[in-house]
Amino acid sequence: MTSAPSDKTQDSDTLHRRGLMFILSSPSGAGKTTIARKLLASDEEIKLSVSVTTRPPREGEIEGVHYHFVDDAGFDRMVEEDDFYEWAHVFGHRYGTPKGHIRNALKDGQDFLFDIDWQGTQQLYQKDQQDTVSVFILPPSIDALRHRLEGRGTDSPDIIDSRMERAKAEISHWAEYDYVVINDNLEMCFAKVSEILNAERMRRTRQTGLIPFVRELTL
Ligand code: 5GP
Repeated sequence: MTSAPSDKTQDSDTLHRRGLMFILSSPSGAGKTTIARKLLASDEEIKLSVSVTTRPPREGEIEGVHYHFVDDAGFDRMVEEDDFYEWAHVFGHRYGTPKGHIRNALKDGQDFLFDIDWQGTQQLYQKDQQDTVSVFILPPSIDALRHRLEGRGTDSPDIIDSRMERAKAEISHWAEYDYVVINDNLEMCFAKVSEILNAERMRRTRQTGLIPFVRELTL
């Protein structure tokens, strides 16, 4: 005789879990922004942590979507009021992660994507290591990186050279990350980044709904 199916069946996707802070870093030109956009478009459970910056908007960038754009005085005020999780000087401007509602949303199971540099990653780690997962994306070769930076179009060789130097400085922080993925093929790199995210969601310590669930199983 087969027993009737329980009306309380559950898979791990429906159990309550804690959200995570998923950090993507890379030197500019390694494809991080494209991967971040694909992830946000394909995965409803993660949303972008929109940074605050003193850099002026580029063409096509929208206030509140890509960044919150503020002037120096506005940024100073936020620093004074302790409004940032982390902030750093990057390429002559300041960038920071506003605290906003992140802590409460993590508790509710919301995941956040952070497109931040190594300085921000170190600070988030110090503040909240448990909720942080960091991925560093490397270019397949230094020539490919140069090619991608040149491919952007209008910049002079001097500017490209200084970007290359910055890229090498950024790359030197690769060993501070939990995961490192080489972007020699965008689709494969994206698939790997998604796998990392999904596996990290399944970490026992994040699945806060397991305790009551297993208690029921073992009654
Ligand atoms: P971009 O000006 O090209 O958008 O970004 C320049 C660099 O600043 C990128 O490496 C990006 O990851 C980093 N960045 C953007 N937002 C933040 C932030 O909130 N904190 C930190 N530490 N870095 C950021």
